[in-house]
Amino acid sequence: MSATPAWPPKSAPRLFVSPPLSPGETRAIDGPAAHYLARVMRVAPGDAVILCDDATGEWAARVASAGRRDVTVEVVERLRVREEVPDLTLCAALLKKDRFDLVLEKACELGVRRIAPVITHRCVADKLNLERARAVLIEAAEQCARTALPVLEAPVKLGALLAAWEADRTLFFADEVRDGQPAALAFARPGPAAILVGPEGGFDDGERGAIRALPSARAVSLGPRILRGETAAIAATALWMGVTGDWCGASSVPPGK
Ligand code: SAH
Repeated sequence: MSATPAWPPKSAPRLFVSPPLSPGETRAIDGPAAHYLARVMRVAPGDAVILCDDATGEWAARVASAGRRDVTVEVVERLRVREEVPDLTLCAALLKKDRFDLVLEKACELGVRRIAPVITHRCVADKLNLERARAVLIEAAEQCARTALPVLEAPVKLGALLAAWEADRTLFFADEVRDGQPAALAFARPGPAAILVGPEGGFDDGERGAIRALPSARAVSLGPRILRGETAAIAATALWMGVTGDWCGASSVPPGK
């Protein structure tokens, strides 16, 4: 049976799998994904499953068999191609694990294309478990029905990030010390964008000077209160999505303005 408005049901479990999918193939699913399908969702042969592969898009599949440890599905047909999410990179200074996990999860839900963790002088954490971070992003993408996973870069020091900056990407620098332009006004600007947010202790003066020296940098204010790093990262991303991202269909900023 091919996809109809009623099939697969919206409630069908959604999973990211690799390698890329193709119509008619039978795919064996094992590990945590199989456990989730078999033990949590208790799928049975004939049940619908929605599969994404972060390459070709989203597919409707049907359970062929469901054991305790593995599930096989038949790929029926493609429902959506892999989407183009808005070209926003979140450059977030590393925070304590739980707080950075929150940033990863919310940035994924909010639709960022890329996440570039940054190491600054005052970061409490100086490394990131990339495998765990990727698992957070996959789970968030499954929950929010993204067909494209955010690209997760390895953490880089602020100096290296700035030295390698792409000239055509605006770097909105969330500066809680010196007044930047109100973010809602600054974000109304077409083109590739990035938002840079500091750690619990903020940026030091040397870092602030280096960021402001970047021609593509624009200092922005997120209001009169000092936000926690995770709040600033999440709030700024949401605001950008509302002003320029895909929360209002086509970009709200007419091209060339
Ligand atoms: N210096 C702060 C701590 C940093 S807040 C303090 O005195 O407690 C963490 C990060 O969130 C900052 O580095 C900045 O990037 C961002 N941020 C917080 N509040 C902000 C605001 N009102 N405007 C712009 N950025 C802000």
